[in-house]
Amino acid sequence: MDRFDVTVIGGGIIGAAVLDRLSRYDLKALLLEKCDDVASFTTRANSGIVHAGYDCEPGTLKAKYNVLGNPLVWKEAEELDVPHLKCGSLVVAGEDGIDGLEALAKKAEANGVEVRILDREQTLKIEPNVADRIAYSLYAPSAGVVSPYQMAIGYADRAVTNGAKIILEAPVTAICKRDGDYILSTPKGEFATKIVINCAGANGAFINDLVGAEHYETTYRRGDYFVLDSTERKNISTVIFPLPTAAGKGILVAPTADGNVIYGPTAIDTTDSEDVASTLDSLDSLRASVPLTYKRPAFNKCIRVYSGLRTLIGHDFVIGRSQKTENFVMAIGICSPGLTSAPAIADDVLALALDGLNANKKKEFVTVMPRHKRLKELSDDELEQLVAEDNRWGRIVCRCEKVTEAEVVAAIRSPLPATTVDAVKRRCRAGMGRCQGGFCGTRVMQILSRELGVPLTEVKKGLGANIARYRVKEVE
Ligand SMILES: Cc1cc2nc3c(=O)[nH]c(=O)nc-3n(C[C@H](O)[C@H](O)[C@H](O)COP(=O)(O)OP(=O)(O)OC[C@H]3O[C@@H](n4cnc5c(N)ncnc54)[C@H](O)[C@@H]3O)c2cc1C
Repeated sequence: MDRFDVTVIGGGIIGAAVLDRLSRYDLKALLLEKCDDVASFTTRANSGIVHAGYDCEPGTLKAKYNVLGNPLVWKEAEELDVPHLKCGSLVVAGEDGIDGLEALAKKAEANGVEVRILDREQTLKIEPNVADRIAYSLYAPSAGVVSPYQMAIGYADRAVTNGAKIILEAPVTAICKRDGDYILSTPKGEFATKIVINCAGANGAFINDLVGAEHYETTYRRGDYFVLDSTERKNISTVIFPLPTAAGKGILVAPTADGNVIYGPTAIDTTDSEDVASTLDSLDSLRASVPLTYKRPAFNKCIRVYSGLRTLIGHDFVIGRSQKTENFVMAIGICSPGLTSAPAIADDVLALALDGLNANKKKEFVTVMPRHKRLKELSDDELEQLVAEDNRWGRIVCRCEKVTEAEVVAAIRSPLPATTVDAVKRRCRAGMGRCQGGFCGTRVMQILSRELGVPLTEVKKGLGANIARYRVKEVE
């Protein structure tokens, strides 16, 4: 049985960021992920906002990690070459909303976050398309957007580059203790480890129960979204929020880091830890809410809907060492602003894990990852040179997003390789555009089949789903 010093359970943004930190130390570090890629659950489906931190209750872990995490996300998105845009954010309100904005400004001051209250004229200079009823706004210049799944993939790639191990399709189903080690059972075998770090998101409380750590009641809150075609991107300059309510930050209109626009999320309480199916009622409530803050809703430009699940344990994050079982660290109940908080949470979780381990920092490790070459960003001269070296740069696979075969192959050969159509999509955007893979889906399948050496019928979409069931005809 393989033995590790530290094992992280769960490859969302939190687990991936923690593994990234561990990989800088002389340690045998492992991450076990249930799905066939990292960032396959909540980290895949959220708003992608790098929050400024003005709305978290002062004194909470959410406030602490949001404020510490914001500058780290901007720095590390650069290091990892992950799409991001520090475009600021506005909380907008009508004539009757000034008290709410002032209350937010007070919280911002307590949290040490820079904000300014703007009148309508000043607001329009930042975002000309706020709704006509908007009289004031709270502007937070440090906010913006990042690609959430690419951030997690970036951490995972860097961790693997620095020597950590990731095993996918390895849900932890049982944990016992033997000779001072934890033994983690998965369908991919058993793994012994001195320290366990629980980053299992929606299943965090379940993992705690498996080891007899603190028991937590978990609730869930689903959020549905519309994704709009990139042609809508020109109409929005910043992230627009309404005033927050007890249910959350409200329905936003925002650019994505990759050039689309999103409207959402709703806030639907549920007891189902896998409830990620958008409903018509929920989408209708988005149709009613968006015009309250934004004057150019374009639901006819929707190219997709999606849904993400917030995991709630009480009102705050749960981060710390278990008091009930030794060498067990928890980072669970990480709802919003968990994406923004991830690097700061990971720094503290690393310190908790290292306590009791005699580990030295590696003399050398990679901090800045190689730049991804993207057709969309190349000059004509650069492209010409690349095509001369490798003609796969001359073959467009995804017409909507302008992705070449070379980029698809690079995704499949990345440090944590993409092995499914969805994993390719998350890495290089083939299939993310207007036709949602209608044209390029089978091309990506063929490339995966060739690169992985498996028949087309075994190429997976993602999350275990098959695409082609059997051959209907043979083609030379
Ligand atoms: C609708 C919505 C909007 C949001 N918007 C924002 C935002 O704009 N900005 C922001 O900062 N935050 C936002 N968040 C919060 C953010 O998305 C989460 O805090 C973050 O993604 C949580 O990451 P995680 O790693 O804890 O969980 P996850 O991403 O769910 O990762 C947990 C992983 O553990 C794996 N796992 C589960 N059980 C097991 C097991 N038994 N064995 C092995 N692996 C297991 C899962 O497959 C999963 O990959 C939003 C969340 C939602 C739902």
